Amino acid sequence: MSAIVEALNRRSSGGKPTLSFEFFPPKDDAGFVTLNDSFDHLLKLSPDFVSVTYGAGGSNRERSIAVVESFSSRVATIGHLTCVGATRQSTQAVIAQFEQAGVAGILAIRGDNPADQPDALNQGELKRAVELVTLAQESSSLPVGVAAFPEKHPESVDVAADVRVLKIKQDAGAKFAVTQLFFATSHYVELVDAARAAGVTMPILPGLMPIANAKNVLRMAQLSGATVPSDLHDRLISATDEDAAREIGMAYTVQLGRELLSAGAPGLHIFALNQSKAATRVAQEVGLA
Ligand code: FAD
Repeated sequence: MSAIVEALNRRSSGGKPTLSFEFFPPKDDAGFVTLNDSFDHLLKLSPDFVSVTYGAGGSNRERSIAVVESFSSRVATIGHLTCVGATRQSTQAVIAQFEQAGVAGILAIRGDNPADQPDALNQGELKRAVELVTLAQESSSLPVGVAAFPEKHPESVDVAADVRVLKIKQDAGAKFAVTQLFFATSHYVELVDAARAAGVTMPILPGLMPIANAKNVLRMAQLSGATVPSDLHDRLISATDEDAAREIGMAYTVQLGRELLSAGAPGLHIFALNQSKAATRVAQEVGLA
């Protein structure tokens, strides 16, 4: 079993929960300086692994691979990989590049049509993430993870439909799942309960978004379809200033993280957004660092 999968299964046999962080490949040199600085800081918290996102349509392929390569020599790194608009051959080539870069696992996701390629999904050879799971299994020995959606994927009818898809992905070889951002423990618990009832046994790692910049997080919530509880929403928008909103948001995030761990989550995957301060606070205050 790979180190990442072993770590994610640790809690179910009485071990401690995992700590991990998600980063994205920056667009320019200044962004790389910020990323590397944040990565250095967060590495001091001894995360079990980190992950690096990948642009839909392969828009940031080289930058994503470069970040994976630079991180992999210092900590187990999962490379996200999307398949929207891609051919099987080009996808296999990226998987080979990831392997050469020393990646420790792949998060196989579909991606969405990029704004400048509105028909990419129809044109690509791989239409669904499960096809990417299968391709990654055939092309490498890397452990493959998938996305999960506590409040259902926007294109799905309901969580039950998503759970059926999770089971199909597990049957295709997926070894773990990481969730979309969400703001209530009940969403995660309901997803896990439904998944277990449907025979999904792989660890489902909650993704936790620190509410450090309330405006940004509210926008991301809207884009991803995550519900912001109305009392949290009201408190954030009526805060006297940005600092006050940050305090409300961060206290909420820490509480959510603690609740998720109490509910039995295998760990927390903190969306660091290439910043270290908020992610460090969450990791420390939930007791994972
Ligand atoms: P799929 O599994 O293909 O699902 C898409 C839709 O099709 C869902 O509604 C699903 O229920 C349905 N479906 C799938 N298979 C079947 C089936 N066999 N039968 C019936 N219905 C089916 N995007 C990026 O561009 N880059 C990233 O790095 C990135 N990282 C992410 C990380 C996480 C943890 C998450 C949760 C999402 C991430 N995304 C990323 C966003 C992701 O690309 C989108 O959410 C995308 O719309 C769905 O991806 P998916 O892998 O769930 O797709």
